[in-house]
Amino acid sequence: MTSKKTRNFEKALPEGYRQALYINTKSAKFGLIFNAIALLVLLLVMAFAVLTLYIGGTDGSDIFDVGSTQMLSTYLIFLGAMLGYVVLHELVHGIAYKAMTGEKLTFGMSWSCAFCGVPHIFTYRKTALTSVVMPFAVFTLLFIPILILFYFVHPLYYLLASFLFGLHLGGCSGDLYVLCLLTVKFKDPNTLMRDTGPEQFFYIPSEEKTGN
Ligand SMILES: [Zn+2]
Repeated sequence: MTSKKTRNFEKALPEGYRQALYINTKSAKFGLIFNAIALLVLLLVMAFAVLTLYIGGTDGSDIFDVGSTQMLSTYLIFLGAMLGYVVLHELVHGIAYKAMTGEKLTFGMSWSCAFCGVPHIFTYRKTALTSVVMPFAVFTLLFIPILILFYFVHPLYYLLASFLFGLHLGGCSGDLYVLCLLTVKFKDPNTLMRDTGPEQFFYIPSEEKTGN
């Protein structure tokens, strides 16, 4: 019996496939490059946030113009939101993988990033694309109205939400790299990806040429 989900992945690498690329996010090179990109994105987002406040006529003095109790609860909520974001980001990858394959997931954390994978199968390009893009799409759409709202509510809330948004965008740099690979380098829908979480293996039917 062939269920709909089995068309989204293979249990074993089919004959005639060869490995075309291997990514290891735990490697020093990958981890340093993508964390540097994440930091740069965060700085750019914060610069944009400060600029928009300045343009809106906020002078620095009203940023911390909240009561001390409210300040403390604001920072606690901010810390909770930051941790919650990391968990939810990986969960969204997982939901996409689970919905499309029904297979066992893996979650974890390495020195360079948090991760979610579906290590025992080979997912087709469509499945890999869906899972990789989902947290970026979901949280970007969620953050934009929150940022607009907070901009008008209080500059401190706006700055903290911008910081989270910057972490989100920067934290998606690895995902967006894989998204680029799958949309530019591996256009063949028969491309398979094995995602162990920290590592991604790409396979293509061997008669095809890479690097076009
Ligand atoms: Zn991700």
